Amino acid sequence: MLRSTLLAAARSQGVRRLVEANPLTKPVVQRFVAGTTPDDAVRVTRALRDQGMHVTLDHLGEDTLDAQQAAEIVRAYRRMLRVLADEGLADRAEVSVKLSAVGQFLPGDGEKIALDNARLVCEAAAEAGTTVTLDMEDHTTTDSTLGILRDLRVDFPWVGAVLQAYLRRTEQDCRDLATEGSRVRLCKGAYAEPASVAYQDKAEVDRSYVRCLKILMDGAGYPMVASHDPRMVAIAAELARRAGRDADSFEYQMLYGIRPEEQRRIAAEGGKLRVYVAYGDEWYGYFMRRLAERPANLVFFLRSLVTQ
Ligand code: FAD
Repeated sequence: MLRSTLLAAARSQGVRRLVEANPLTKPVVQRFVAGTTPDDAVRVTRALRDQGMHVTLDHLGEDTLDAQQAAEIVRAYRRMLRVLADEGLADRAEVSVKLSAVGQFLPGDGEKIALDNARLVCEAAAEAGTTVTLDMEDHTTTDSTLGILRDLRVDFPWVGAVLQAYLRRTEQDCRDLATEGSRVRLCKGAYAEPASVAYQDKAEVDRSYVRCLKILMDGAGYPMVASHDPRMVAIAAELARRAGRDADSFEYQMLYGIRPEEQRRIAAEGGKLRVYVAYGDEWYGYFMRRLAERPANLVFFLRSLVTQ
């Protein structure tokens, strides 16, 4: 109930104005978002690199309904990729892109615009010597996103995708994508989805996550285990061992600001750990999804508003 209310608020412009206008929100947002500028993102990337971790950078933005704004987000990604190359960080950091930020929802030929824009980001990533992963948004975009992934992979076979274990379709998507060279980031899923397409019960989502993980680990692709759940992390290690995988044939991924001690532990013990680092001004939707994932975050957020 609380989760669905917060996820509905994530899409409300009215609540957005209220939350963004409150200066006391900022310190809480900073727990999950690296900062607003590219310099902030580079500073955090360097610090994580120095602790033996890898990074994927998300220039915040989603649901763009303006072609100019979509083009500006593409320019921002391309600038960031050049900076990563210039700073010697491209072997440690890639980028994550939401197709809705680069035009997928534009009326008319949004899908084609998103494909062309994503291609521009991929070209810059190829020049920098790194990779791109396509984030997954709500279930109405899954077919479109996987279609764009297929098109991009013709020229850029290293483009990765996110699959969400809460969707009933995802086991089959895992089978389709568990192929040579395919990079799949498996997460549980962060949007409000109807029972017709998604498991609603947490235990059912967890069971689906394990089934999907097994398909990916047993397949020929490169699994990216995106979860902070200690059970999923332990199961991933065991499935990788059973599948005869080396430590560098899959990776763990966690979000910036969530379970950082666990991130350091995995990296220190020789696991490949990538931190998803979001930065930029458009933090509202991303922040609200983080609140929705854990009621304690909302309590912490509300307490910070009343005690300061
Ligand atoms: P949960 O069972 O939700 O959490 C397990 C434990 O992790 C919790 O008990 C708590 O200790 C900790 N935890 C989890 N979330 C939080 C939080 N917000 N604050 C504090 N502690 C927390 N979702 C999408 O729908 N599309 C995407 O493209 C996408 N990309 C992602 C990329 C990465 C690298 C990661 C790590 C997640 C991504 N997600 C994405 C979010 C994901 O779907 C989940 O909503 C989120 O990761 C929480 O699920 P969990 O697996 O950590 O398990």
